[in-house]
Amino acid sequence: MKALSQLRWQLIAAQMLVVVVGVVVLAIAADRLGSGIFAADLRARLEGVPMAERAAVEAALLASFRKATGQALLAAGAAAAVVGLTTSVLLLRQILRPLNEIARSSQRIAEGRYDERVAVPASDELAIVATSFNQMAESLERVEQQRVALIGNVAHELRTPLTGIEGYLEGLIDGVFAPEPSVFGDMQHEVRRMRRLIDDLQTLSHVEAGQVSLHLAEVDLVELARRVVNQLRPQTITNCLELTVLPETPSLIVRADPDRLAQILLNLVGNAIRYTPEGGCITVRLGVAGAMARAEVIDTGIGIPPEELPYIFERFYRVDRSRSRASGGSGIGLTIARHLAWAMGGELTAESAGPGKGSTFTLTMPLR
Ligand code: ADP
Repeated sequence: MKALSQLRWQLIAAQMLVVVVGVVVLAIAADRLGSGIFAADLRARLEGVPMAERAAVEAALLASFRKATGQALLAAGAAAAVVGLTTSVLLLRQILRPLNEIARSSQRIAEGRYDERVAVPASDELAIVATSFNQMAESLERVEQQRVALIGNVAHELRTPLTGIEGYLEGLIDGVFAPEPSVFGDMQHEVRRMRRLIDDLQTLSHVEAGQVSLHLAEVDLVELARRVVNQLRPQTITNCLELTVLPETPSLIVRADPDRLAQILLNLVGNAIRYTPEGGCITVRLGVAGAMARAEVIDTGIGIPPEELPYIFERFYRVDRSRSRASGGSGIGLTIARHLAWAMGGELTAESAGPGKGSTFTLTMPLR
């Protein structure tokens, strides 16, 4: 605010300086040039007049010329100063009002009022400033909303296993449950769920902050995919799922962190197993797409509705909350997987023809 009032006085002083310099330059020009021309003209007209008389008339007329131009310049200077002052005050008001408003609004945003916006003025340049300010305020508000939602989500996710453990403990204390290994096993299951969630949250905070440490090496994607599939194969037995790796080339060497790459594939194939009903098929197809290696995890599972597709990489987003939670899903696996893919120069996308029509998750990684 202080800076703006300083600017006001600086601009008014600059305007006045222009008027003063203009008047001084005009006065010098009138005195040097105007007087010379006037005197020469006078001399020509006074030809024939006796010398003694001529000098006196010339001096008197020159003095009167100087007086007249001086007075005219004074009047013109005063008029220019009044006009200059008025226009600069009007102009300043037009410029400073929106700037003052932006300064006040930023103060309010700094105090935590993220819904603050400024009116967009008519002037082009100021409109750009005001629009950019409003855009900045909007993204700050969005970040704040996400932060609040994140806290709510974390609290909610932690409460679920905690409520389970509390229930078992109360049952044990009241004697409703006998202290048998199965009860402790169920409690352990809930504790593990909490641990997994906390580990996932920690990984998420690292990947989102870009702080994940990568040990890049040359990795054979075909071999890695086979390893991941073999690791998860036991989980396909209960649902009689068919799980196959389909490489289009014998090997696909990519530059990536092998553990992180395995983590992404484990998440994608794990999800495919979780969301594919009995007797379904899961195929991991591997090939080349331009300068990238491509791994597609294709399933014949429950699919994803088109309106949900844009959100499934968002934190805690689950198409079917109860189904995902019942199977131990936290809704942040895909968020982590996508950030890991980005960190290694790759991309992760999802497609689905709709509910009941299966899904395809495509991971691309830069080739060696
Ligand atoms: P979750 O741990 O809940 O599986 P993810 O981040 O891995 O979390 O997945 C987010 C959501 O995306 C899931 O809850 C599910 O609704 C949907 N999803 C992920 N993979 C598939 C798939 N292969 N088929 C259908 N839906 C899927």
